[in-house]
Amino acid sequence: MVIVMEVGASPQQVEGVIHAVEEAGFRPFVNPGVERRVIAVLGLVDAQKVSVAERFAGLPGVERVTLISQPFKLASRESHPERTTVRVGEVVIGGEAITVIAGPCSVETREQTLEVARAVKQAGAHLLRGGAFKPRSSPYSFQGLGEEGLEVLAEARELTGLPIVTEVMDPHDLPLVARYADVLQIGARNMQNFRLLQQVGQFDKPVLLKRGAGCRVRDLLMACEYVMLEGNRQVILCERGITTFEDSTRYTTDLNAVPVLKHQSHLPVLLDPSHSTGDWRYVAPLALAAIAAGADGIMVEVHPSPGQALSDGPQSLKPDRFRELMVTLSRVAAAVGRSLAVPAASG
Ligand code: PEP
Ligand code: MN
Repeated sequence: MVIVMEVGASPQQVEGVIHAVEEAGFRPFVNPGVERRVIAVLGLVDAQKVSVAERFAGLPGVERVTLISQPFKLASRESHPERTTVRVGEVVIGGEAITVIAGPCSVETREQTLEVARAVKQAGAHLLRGGAFKPRSSPYSFQGLGEEGLEVLAEARELTGLPIVTEVMDPHDLPLVARYADVLQIGARNMQNFRLLQQVGQFDKPVLLKRGAGCRVRDLLMACEYVMLEGNRQVILCERGITTFEDSTRYTTDLNAVPVLKHQSHLPVLLDPSHSTGDWRYVAPLALAAIAAGADGIMVEVHPSPGQALSDGPQSLKPDRFRELMVTLSRVAAAVGRSLAVPAASG
């Protein structure tokens, strides 16, 4: 349920409503809208809804009370009609400008990571990605460098100024990862690790939440609700491909999810065409399609020698191809009324 206040409602009237909601035993979440305040009321069981709605509708300063049909309330656009932007340092995600997150799948060595960091920075990327804790299908595969990898990422940030996006897999690692990360990534495999979601929800740090390969859009939004309910509203949603019967690509890019998520939620939406296709040759076409479909940005994997990569080499772009992609991406962004600043080629 959301309580929509009148445009000119006074702070006292807003306080009065918050108090009434708490008195009735519910949790109020206030959205500081530009035009008017909207108060989401959480914890309503269906049987009580209508009588409670009528009670709140009669309070001073209330314009109307709307019942939210979606099972995800805080992530829903019904409860928050204005778009949310997530700020990471100087970067604003979800506004008019397109955001590009780029970097290696895994932090393998200091040299490899710093080389990619410099290259993607020069090409115009806004954030650096890189995994120090890697969720691998096989326990015999490279599992990431752990804290040493986080230190390398911190050095790359120091060198380039790019904020760091890195995955946290386990609630026990969260304090450590949060000390280094600018954005906490929750990977596809952990999208429904509800304890992890609740714990990142208690941090004051943006979260990049990736869709599980076997999860519906609705499940992604409910996972997001777990984070938001703990108080952290800075969630960025990321489509990264789903499992289907089609096996010509690693996953199937659910491009539909981009406009659906933008329609159903107020949060920024990104696409990861590296994981969704699993093949560097298809990364650029899907990245362009995502921006044309309304995504707020992309996350792509870049490696100086993909053939030698310890994870996800086949889907990693070489730095030169990443640079080309940035130029084409800026044209598509302009064609759909968005912007992407790409530095002029040097030399
Ligand atoms: C990754 O970003 O490297 C990753 C492991 O992604 P996903 O969780 O989408 O598989
Ligand atoms: Mn990867």
